Amino acid sequence: MLRYSEKQLQRVEANYAGVRESIERYEAMDIPACPSCSSDDTALIQVGLIGRTMAIAGGTTKFKLIPNRSKPKWNKMYFCRACEETFGSREENMPSD
Ligand SMILES: [Zn+2]
Repeated sequence: MLRYSEKQLQRVEANYAGVRESIERYEAMDIPACPSCSSDDTALIQVGLIGRTMAIAGGTTKFKLIPNRSKPKWNKMYFCRACEETFGSREENMPSD
């Protein structure tokens, strides 16, 4: 789900050129439903807290930002916002920002 208004999208794009395209790419992504609770409020897990990734995380619920993969649960591909479980193997081709 898109979190930014048109005005906010324009503002983040002014700060991080190309970030709008990234947000829209995540928004269009087909992310699998959660195998634990069947929620479709799921997100792709990405590591690294920098301005650009924070702007993407602010813009779409389909992007889950974590500071590092220190806990084994974060060594997965997807995150469920409903039950906070992670799932999916990272071995398969990993979309990068
Ligand atoms: Zn779930």
